[in-house]
Amino acid sequence: MERLTFPAGGAAALDEYLEYRRIVGEDDGGKLFTPEEYEEYKRKVLPMRSENRLFVSWRSPTGMDCKLVGPETLCFCTHRYKQHKTDFRTIPQQRPLSLPCRVTGCQCGAYLYVPLNGAQPVRCRCKHFADQHSAAPGFICNACSKCSGFHSCFTCACGQPAYAHDTVVETKQERLAQGKPVGQDVPYAAMGGLTGFSSLAEGYMRLDDSGIGAPSVEVLDSPVTARDHPFLKAFQASSSSPETLTDVGTSSRVSSLRRPEEDDMAFFERRNCGKIKMEKAAKLKGKAPLPPTTKPS
Ligand SMILES: [Zn+2]
Ligand SMILES: [Zn+2]
Ligand SMILES: [Zn+2]
Ligand SMILES: [Zn+2]
Ligand SMILES: [Zn+2]
Repeated sequence: MERLTFPAGGAAALDEYLEYRRIVGEDDGGKLFTPEEYEEYKRKVLPMRSENRLFVSWRSPTGMDCKLVGPETLCFCTHRYKQHKTDFRTIPQQRPLSLPCRVTGCQCGAYLYVPLNGAQPVRCRCKHFADQHSAAPGFICNACSKCSGFHSCFTCACGQPAYAHDTVVETKQERLAQGKPVGQDVPYAAMGGLTGFSSLAEGYMRLDDSGIGAPSVEVLDSPVTARDHPFLKAFQASSSSPETLTDVGTSSRVSSLRRPEEDDMAFFERRNCGKIKMEKAAKLKGKAPLPPTTKPS
C-alpha cells in the first residue's frame, strides 16, 4: 500500500505534515500511515480522544496549576509527555491515574513533571540532578548511595517548594467540577493540560481564568506575515494598507516567544494568533465571519 507523502518544500505540505503529526503523535511507530490507515486511525481515535481526554498539570498545595503539561513537556524519566500513554478507550477507575512511558526499556510507570530552574534542571537534596535518578518507582539516585529518593527543595514561583506539588491527571469532568479550564475539544494527541494560548505561561503569570488568554496589543497590532493563516493574508492583500504587509520587527517579536518548549508554543502561536488576527482583519473589513473572541462557553 502507498504511504502518505508530503511533497518536499512548500508551506502547505509542511502544515499538512504538522497536522498529521499532531493528530497521530507517535502512534504510527515512526512509519507514516497509508491514507487508508490514517482515515481509519482518525475514525477510531478522535471520538475517544474528545470523550476521554486527560488533563495534566503540576499543582501547588494552594490549588494553583503552576504548570500545564503539553506534548513536549519532559517527564522525570527524561521522555516527553507525548511519549507516554495518553489515550484511553476507557478511563481507569483507579486514582491517581498513572500514565506510563511507552519508550521501550523505560521504567517510568507514571508521568511525573519536574520543574526547571529557568532553563536549568533542578537538583535533588543529594545534590544530583533529576535525570541522574532512576525513573523506576522510588526514584533512587544512580550517582550516590545516600539518596533515599528524588526530593527537590527548589522553590516554585508560587512560593511553595517543588516537593509539595503534585503531578495531577484529571478527566474533563473532574476538572470542570473544580472550576478549572478545559478549553475546546481538539483532535490532537497528548495535549495534556494545554487549553489555550496562555496555558504555556507559568501559573502565576496566567492572568485569566479561561486558559485562553487575552491577546496583547502587540499581537493584535503586529503586521501580517508569511507565517500567518492564508485567510488573513488574503484579507490583507486585498485591503488598502500595503504597509501592513511588511515583515519589519516580526522576527524579533517571534524570537522573543521562543522557549524551551518551542513546539508547544509554536502550536498555539499559529493556532490562536492566526485566528485572532483573522478576526481583527475581518473587523477592519467591516465583516464578521467569525464570532468575537470571548471566553468559550
Ligand atoms: Zn520514559
Ligand atoms: Zn515518564
Ligand atoms: Zn537524590
Ligand atoms: Zn545522588
Ligand atoms: Zn508552584
